[in-house]
Amino acid sequence: MVVEQLDELYREVILDHFTNPRNVGELAGAPIRAEGTNPLCGDEIAFWLTLNGTRVEAAHFKGKGCAISQAAGSMFTEQLKGKTLQEVARLIHAMKRLMQGEAPPEDVDVGDLESLSGVRKFPVRVKCAALSWNVLEQGLDHYGQQSR
Ligand code: ZN
Repeated sequence: MVVEQLDELYREVILDHFTNPRNVGELAGAPIRAEGTNPLCGDEIAFWLTLNGTRVEAAHFKGKGCAISQAAGSMFTEQLKGKTLQEVARLIHAMKRLMQGEAPPEDVDVGDLESLSGVRKFPVRVKCAALSWNVLEQGLDHYGQQSR
C-alpha cells in the first residue's frame, strides 16, 4: 500500500481523513455538483457545494476507493468552506503545482492537502489525489456555464 511508504507525518494526516472522513454525504439542492471516477484504481468521488453569494457555504463529498482518493475528498471539503469560487480555482491551481513539485503560492492555504504532495513520488497514485480537483474543476466549469 502506497500510504505506508509516505513520510510519517503525511501518512498520519491521510489515514486520519480516510478513517474519519469529514463532511460526508449529499447536500440536497446544492448548485454545484460533480462526480467522477479514476478507473485506474477504481476510485469514485462526488462533491456538493452550496453557496452564499459567491462564497462556498458548505462542501460535502461521498465516494469509495483508496485511502488517498478518499482522504483528498475529505481534505478538500475542509479547505473549500468559506472560500470564494475564485479562491477555490486558485486552490486547485496550487494543488496542481504542488503535485509538480512546485510550492503553492504564499497566499493560498492548502491545509491538510499538503500531505498529498508526498504522493507525487508515485505517479500512478497522483491520479488518485488528482481525481478530487479534476472533479471540482468540472463542477465549477459547469456551474460557470449555467450562470452565464
Ligand atoms: Zn486510488
